Amino acid sequence: MTSLPTSALLKQTVLAEYPQVEYGRGVYLYDDQGHQYLDGASGAMTASIGHGVAEVADAIRAQAATVAFTYRTQFTNAPAERLAARIAAHAPDDLDYAFFVNSGSEATEYAIRTAVGYWRERGLPAKTKVLSRAVSYHGMTMGALSMSGHDARRPDYGNLLHPFPVAPPAHAWRYAEAGETEAGYCSRTIAEFEAAVRAEDLDTIAAVIVEPIVGAAGGALVPPAGYLSALREMCDRLGILMIADEVITGFGRTGDWFACGSDDVVPDVLVFGKGVSGGYAAVAGALLRRHVVEAFAAGSGVAPFGHTFSGNPLGAATCLAVLDVLERDAVLENVRRRGRQLEAGLRQLAQAHPRMADVRGRGLLWGFEFTAEAGTTRAPDPARQTATAFTELCSRHGLIVYPAGIAPLNNAILITPPLTITESEIADLLDRLGRALEQMESAW
Ligand code: PMP
Repeated sequence: MTSLPTSALLKQTVLAEYPQVEYGRGVYLYDDQGHQYLDGASGAMTASIGHGVAEVADAIRAQAATVAFTYRTQFTNAPAERLAARIAAHAPDDLDYAFFVNSGSEATEYAIRTAVGYWRERGLPAKTKVLSRAVSYHGMTMGALSMSGHDARRPDYGNLLHPFPVAPPAHAWRYAEAGETEAGYCSRTIAEFEAAVRAEDLDTIAAVIVEPIVGAAGGALVPPAGYLSALREMCDRLGILMIADEVITGFGRTGDWFACGSDDVVPDVLVFGKGVSGGYAAVAGALLRRHVVEAFAAGSGVAPFGHTFSGNPLGAATCLAVLDVLERDAVLENVRRRGRQLEAGLRQLAQAHPRMADVRGRGLLWGFEFTAEAGTTRAPDPARQTATAFTELCSRHGLIVYPAGIAPLNNAILITPPLTITESEIADLLDRLGRALEQMESAW
């Protein structure tokens, strides 16, 4: 008997034999054969303060010894209340209300229930559709997968997946027309987004959902400047809610607490996960703006609810300890500084390896794409499974990276180390990446 690593990769011989992790310290992981790995992916953009942080372990132990579990319809609990207040203090504007769940998928589904419920409370029950983008990932549960534009993760589940209307992606390097400026591309893609909304009956649209920077589906796709605020303006003008999926971008990953904040955009619902617990517990959630909560309060008085473990004290206490580290150690400043170092190093590597194209990102969320031919956007043959193969190669060089890319291209790589990474560790990461690139190049 063995645990299934991930069903999608079972048949790929390159990853058929996973090393077994023994322990982690800081940005490094060690397997049972004594190999050391630099965790350049933070697992899955999750282990944001690194491994083996003693004070988080202490907080978990202390909370477990205080009370194991309480249920949210019977009690509130101090860690969950404190966590909600502290997250709201970092969130843009009046995103003041937090609801906790256990995974990003549950959080995006909660956001849909909230958006649809909001319009029902306001006397518009026909507004039930949510538009998502063609290149996106919002989770693996049926609703979240339905609105995910990630074809590699959505094999044929027949009529179990709902037909969410699809909006165009924002990825200038691949989709801008020849000679189009960034501003021109931005206006065009927003106009196409609006056309996709208007292709539906407006009275049936509840919300749009976007990742401020697309993660797993695209590989750190940063939209053109002004894109998010143009989308916000469109949502206001057309009477639809804006949901920002910050499961990857939240909690400092981009050098701000939330990526929307950097663009001065306030979504109606902001979804978070991953980094909120630094990977030390399964916690995710959503922040709601005041007007959203007030709609429920003034209407039925019943807000959408969640799951058994929603807001459990142990998960919340874990997140509080992670927030302590993020705040006390000025980790976001480190993200900005080390992000600049990482960006410079990646651009240097791209110069030496011209198949490594479109280095893009923000903070410590970086990506690039492999091309079949230098100077073009032509992706390698999808049959090569380039990103997956390169990920395996990196692992042999002691570096964990995350394979991404617009399905079925499988040609993008995410580099997303823990936010606490030091200067010399970034240099180590770049060194390991450089060696993997050399080897890939020589075998191309
Ligand atoms: N949204 C985004 C943007 C994500 O990247 C992910 C996970 N990669 C999810 C939602 C789903 O989160 P989870 O895997 O915790 O369900």
